Amino acid sequence: MVPLMDDATRDQQGARILIVDDEPLITARVAEMLAELGHVAVVAHDWSSALQAYDHTIDLVLLDLIMPKVDGFKLARLVRARGTIYTPIVFLTGRADDQARQKALEAGGDDFLVKPISTLDLRVRVTAMLRIRRLTEALHRQATVDALTGVGNRHALETALQQRVAEGGRYRRPWSLALFDADHFKRVNDEHGHEVGDDVLRAAGETFRTRIRTCDLAFRFGGEEFVVILPETTGEGALVLAERLRAEFARLSASTAAGAQTLSCGIAPVIEAGETAKAVLARADQALYRAKQEGRDRSIVAE
Ligand code: GH3
Ligand code: MG
Ligand code: MG
Repeated sequence: MVPLMDDATRDQQGARILIVDDEPLITARVAEMLAELGHVAVVAHDWSSALQAYDHTIDLVLLDLIMPKVDGFKLARLVRARGTIYTPIVFLTGRADDQARQKALEAGGDDFLVKPISTLDLRVRVTAMLRIRRLTEALHRQATVDALTGVGNRHALETALQQRVAEGGRYRRPWSLALFDADHFKRVNDEHGHEVGDDVLRAAGETFRTRIRTCDLAFRFGGEEFVVILPETTGEGALVLAERLRAEFARLSASTAAGAQTLSCGIAPVIEAGETAKAVLARADQALYRAKQEGRDRSIVAE
């Protein structure tokens, strides 16, 4: 595991920093200074383009306090309401009296830069804030990624499933869940040892990490079980993908000391809005059980 301090203090160049100010001369000047520090500036001149530009790729927000319509305080609250992983916010302001500082903290701000902004001040604040950002990212990774296989962990699966169920309900779009389980995996451990068993699980991790489509999400559900969430995918489409993943796993596991291994898969297509995550998982599990019963090394789509 990478020590957290390394993440916080490693090369911070190339950060994406959103600058929001209604004054184009200021955004231009700050963008230029950031470019000199090796960062990428994303510029917005009002609250709506700021919210449009703000996503998880933004590492830091530099936010003007006084702007027409929606000021910096309100915009900070809107940014915080997005609930992405923690993005530091530094206010840019001509004045920073006690009341403004208090309000800024309450709105979710982290620090102030008083205009006119010097290169040194900007560098100090940006460096400190990017450390916080890198630490947050490292903690988030450790909390959501399975260390052995590199796919999402059980906790991340629960979060993604809740989100998927909510979205499926809202937009009434189909999606599918595929549950994979390594065949006779106990034998692998018994015959080749736990270390080789882990190698096989890493091969599964690599399969699910690298051979899914960009919109699909892969997780380790438990020991030798994996879940792939397939948005906008019917049972038929999910079956094609599952067969491809199973073939790929056979190929990748062939280079372990255990030789080529197989997976069984149960697929639950979701058409009915309102079906709970638990119910979807249960259907996939039943289909997986059938795949095992019918001889393993196959995929079965639930009714
Ligand atoms: P089936 O085809 O019916 O799925 O048979 P199986 O042997 O795969 O099923 P079973 O659930 O009996 O065995 C799963 C095994 O996976 C048991 C457990 O020791 C092993 N296992 C679970 N987690 C890990 C792990 O992190 N590393 C290793 N090496 N083995 C693990
Ligand atoms: Mg202004
Ligand atoms: Mg198994």
